[in-house]
Amino acid sequence: MRFYTCREAHEPKPFRVAVIGAGPAGLSAAGYLACRGYEVHVYDKMPEGGGMVAFAIPEARIPIRAVRDGVRALERLGVRFHFRTKVVYDSPREFGDEWAEHFVSLEKLLSEFDALLIATGAWRPRKLKVPGVELPGVYDALSLLHGIKMARIGYYSWERIPDLKGEHLVVIGAGYTAVDVAMEGRLLGAEKITMAYRRSLEHSYARAEIRKLIAEGVEFIEHATPVRILGEEKVEGVEFAKTKIVGGSVVTTDERFVLDADAVVYAIGQLPTSPIKEIVCASERVLEEAGIFFAGDVITPRNIGTAMREGRAAAERIEEWLLRKAPRRVFPVAMTGRLIAGVLSGKC
Ligand SMILES: Cc1cc2nc3c(=O)[nH]c(=O)nc-3n(C[C@H](O)[C@H](O)[C@H](O)COP(=O)(O)OP(=O)(O)OC[C@H]3O[C@@H](n4cnc5c(N)ncnc54)[C@H](O)[C@@H]3O)c2cc1C
Repeated sequence: MRFYTCREAHEPKPFRVAVIGAGPAGLSAAGYLACRGYEVHVYDKMPEGGGMVAFAIPEARIPIRAVRDGVRALERLGVRFHFRTKVVYDSPREFGDEWAEHFVSLEKLLSEFDALLIATGAWRPRKLKVPGVELPGVYDALSLLHGIKMARIGYYSWERIPDLKGEHLVVIGAGYTAVDVAMEGRLLGAEKITMAYRRSLEHSYARAEIRKLIAEGVEFIEHATPVRILGEEKVEGVEFAKTKIVGGSVVTTDERFVLDADAVVYAIGQLPTSPIKEIVCASERVLEEAGIFFAGDVITPRNIGTAMREGRAAAERIEEWLLRKAPRRVFPVAMTGRLIAGVLSGKC
């Protein structure tokens, strides 16, 4: 996988950039900046690079070998990687944190680097808010796919992964993640797979993939939203409400039906996970003036191509910012904390 590369790096430039997150956005930015002669350090809490591509997208879709080749190409360009290192500011404990062995504060990076790119993705599964969701046998898609991928690439033992052999797997959602769950469910031996979506197939951007799954025997139910997960000791079924679309919005009707299920996976999206949680209300422009840039899913979860384009675009803005300004004043650590807080409080 080519994140960004060049035949030869330019003459070294006297600026250092820290990239937080070694997913497609961070890696394409790192490659661009290394090619332009900047000293680039990439920090990631996981044990190697690739982000979601390495640690969630099924091996059958993008093999880890391709991701590793791309990361090695960046190492050859001079990009320095700091894996198993989580960058913290006011971030709560998040998915994947168990891999971090080192913790470095955002303030420290701000005091040591001329600019900073935050490309930390969207690693918090959006939670399904219906009764019964805590029952054993109900999983969020990201945790399940992450576990399966970790087992396939040798980080986890298969004992940690739910045994879906002979089971009826119900998948809630119709995006790429839901498609991946259905695909992995099949590979793990699920006997029957049903996908349920609150809109119609035509509304799903993964409709081409879903059509293929339907042709292979996956059942697809349109206009249905879960209202309750059923079961005593573990999941036994899902109660759905039929939906209709009114003025572009999904409206739940009084019509109900129940599907039996042995396992339920909800794939209803991920939420951005930035070390600065206020990014949701801070203007990117204001932060850029302080030398803090953002790219990829941490802004809005989308896809690999968009993340790579945004990483490259952010790297160009960083270069422009570095060349326009004299190297940023190195603030004492306590002051950088206040600087960020000040920058953020202007908008929040
Ligand atoms: C299951 C699944 C299937 C998908 N399938 C497709 C597909 O088929 N096609 C497609 O185009 N897109 C797909 N996507 C979306 C795609 O993976 C993402 O859009 C893309 O990876 C976003 O890139 P990113 O660099 O912004 O973030 P990520 O890939 O999420 O990378 C962010 C990195 O930041 C690190 N990080 C986070 N917080 C910190 C911290 N505080 N300190 C240090 N490191 C940190 C993480 O460990 C991670 O490595 C899929 C996503 C999922 C979850």
